[in-house]
Amino acid sequence: MRQPFVAGNWKMYKTVAEARQLVSELLPGLQALKGVERVLCPPFTTLLAVSALLEGTEIGLGAQNLHWEAAGAFTGEVSPPMVAELCRYVILGHSERRTYFNETDATVNRKLKAALAHGLIPIVCVGETLSEYEAGQTSEVVRRQIKLGLAELATASAGSLVIAYEPVWAIGTGKASTGTGANAVVADVIRSALKEMFGEIVAQSIRVLYGGSVKADNAAEFFGQPEIDGALVGGASLKVAEFVAIVQAAANK
Ligand code: PEP
Repeated sequence: MRQPFVAGNWKMYKTVAEARQLVSELLPGLQALKGVERVLCPPFTTLLAVSALLEGTEIGLGAQNLHWEAAGAFTGEVSPPMVAELCRYVILGHSERRTYFNETDATVNRKLKAALAHGLIPIVCVGETLSEYEAGQTSEVVRRQIKLGLAELATASAGSLVIAYEPVWAIGTGKASTGTGANAVVADVIRSALKEMFGEIVAQSIRVLYGGSVKADNAAEFFGQPEIDGALVGGASLKVAEFVAIVQAAANK
């Protein structure tokens, strides 16, 4: 049994004061819901403040990125040990990082290995762009992202991964995929590539999330699918009632 998993990606929103306010409003609702792994991924500058507020709760903390080196002359970057000091999770290869910051499958792979080496649980994002979708290239693109992004990973560490299938055309657009459409990509492309790489048992144990315009009113459609284990939520994770309702829908899975 894969435990449902919901993570909120706050992107580049919230100052420290705003983050404290949002967490204090989220906590009562999130803590009341059991049986779902619940994770908040706020900006780097707020991690210390948010980690203090989450102490003693079952709500996990994640970063949105990291550099692959443990230390060095990399101005503006944040290393795996720095993230691991405060967080248990890290989002890697988000489409906004691939699009605006030139991240490739090769850099995702380096970051992934570094994150695992420092004991972090990576949430690895994959998904096709609108033009790739329209050209019928979804399977090819997502398969490549899995094969290259997860290349040379030891089977023993693959089991701790979380994958997020996030069609780029659905992120922040209000145009979510459909439950059956996303489930088919997860089953036929992602789990089948994971099986080729790590075997059936590990492929079946890895949580695969859907992400892309998940809201309170469409969450159940995705969580009702057999291969979708939860969601990576962007915009709606900044709205207390919406995010708690999404976690509730995952708890009902
Ligand atoms: C995301 O940022 O990963 C995301 C899925 O965003 P949104 O929910 O706003 O589409």
